Amino acid sequence: MKYFKDLGLAEPVLRAVTATGYTTPTPIQIDVIPAMTAQKDVIGIAQTGTGKTASFVLPILNRIAAGKNSQQKFTCGTLILTPTRELASQIADAIKTYGKYMTVSTVVIVGGVKPGPQIKACSNGVDIIIATPGRLLDLMSSGAIRLDQTYQVIADEADQMMDMGFLPSIRKIMQSLPTKRQTVLMSATMPTQIRKLAKEFMHNPTEVSVASAAKPIELITQVVERVEKEHKKQVLTDILANNKITRAVVFVRTKHGANKITTHLTKAGLDALAIHGNKSQGQRDKTIASFKAGKTRILVATDIAARGIDISDVSHVINFELPNVAETYVHRIGRTARAGRSGVAISLCDSSELKLLRDIEKLTGQNLSVTMQDNERLDQRETSERRQKNSSPKTRNDRPQNAQSKPDRVKTSRKFKRHRNQARKIDVDKPDQGLMRMLGKNNNNSVSP
Ligand code: AMP
Repeated sequence: MKYFKDLGLAEPVLRAVTATGYTTPTPIQIDVIPAMTAQKDVIGIAQTGTGKTASFVLPILNRIAAGKNSQQKFTCGTLILTPTRELASQIADAIKTYGKYMTVSTVVIVGGVKPGPQIKACSNGVDIIIATPGRLLDLMSSGAIRLDQTYQVIADEADQMMDMGFLPSIRKIMQSLPTKRQTVLMSATMPTQIRKLAKEFMHNPTEVSVASAAKPIELITQVVERVEKEHKKQVLTDILANNKITRAVVFVRTKHGANKITTHLTKAGLDALAIHGNKSQGQRDKTIASFKAGKTRILVATDIAARGIDISDVSHVINFELPNVAETYVHRIGRTARAGRSGVAISLCDSSELKLLRDIEKLTGQNLSVTMQDNERLDQRETSERRQKNSSPKTRNDRPQNAQSKPDRVKTSRKFKRHRNQARKIDVDKPDQGLMRMLGKNNNNSVSP
């Protein structure tokens, strides 16, 4: 077994790790920490929630602890790039935690807040800057910060930065760095774009992969429910009404959608707050704090806002809509089952999303069975039983056109009622088993721990 003391970390860093309560390093830490301390370029492919942040923060601090620790004005020694403001402030918190027995200067450079304090904080020179690409480029172009003294750059959640269209900005930033530097790319998945970026900007990188890039964390039970669009809101309310769901993140595709769902849930008497890019930084911080403190049970989030959020007790992730990009599904469900806990991911899938579901199955290599298909079979059976019971001398095909529309309407409303009833009956701890039992089929969509 490996211990933190075997990884070559300096005394103040080790002391902070012990004070945090970690006993053993996680697999990504076992590989990334020694590679980074040997000043190699590193590509780290790790599932979310695996201890990725500490794997690069500890070696950064280690290098600062060993060095002279003085930066020239308007320069920084280490640059950490992140896709979102939340992730940036989370990394800053981690640096505070692991660097509490050292003197480290840190500045968070993100949009959505006034640049003045960030500019002032850079003027004396900084050990570590944690930045989103857009605001960093603004400050670089105004001369508030230069990267010519930066000896280390880390791109965290690199795949998300690609998805968000940050590639040109990252290129610009990389080109402003000295050629002699250490480059680290951390990513949950490794699409071709990132491979290309690595080739362009890294020197003989050590690749560390703690699990298949596309494989969702194994402690997550995954359930897919086939629900038509018009019924999704009601099914969501029914699922969330179960108070076994102690803390849930509901993912939606758009900011407008996040607001609408939050209003709907609030009207239904559920305790929900929305987080997305149109909210001010102050609002976003408040929402996260309230969710973390357990004051708000449901967080309705867009992908951008929720990326990288580390809250360890999220019991359920609910995909109100499936994401357009399959990799995003892996990130979303990774909001639960963090730090070794188990969790449940429920996805509501309508007929227009079946292709997205197939993409997810292809990426994860898992067969996510769809429960509503069985409902439809039940419906068909029930409809034919009803027809037999009410059998009149005329068959359905003999009836005039306008008479045919009535049974179909009845079918839709019954189907919805039954679905609602079933959604209420879901055992949210093991919804797959509950649903499967109810539908009398084998469970093949849960991943055993
Ligand atoms: P991350 O993947 O960086 O978001 O980390 C996920 C969670 O794991 C965070 O809450 C960390 O505090 C926690 N963590 C990181 N390293 C360890 C460790 N060696 N032992 C226990 N928990 C850890």
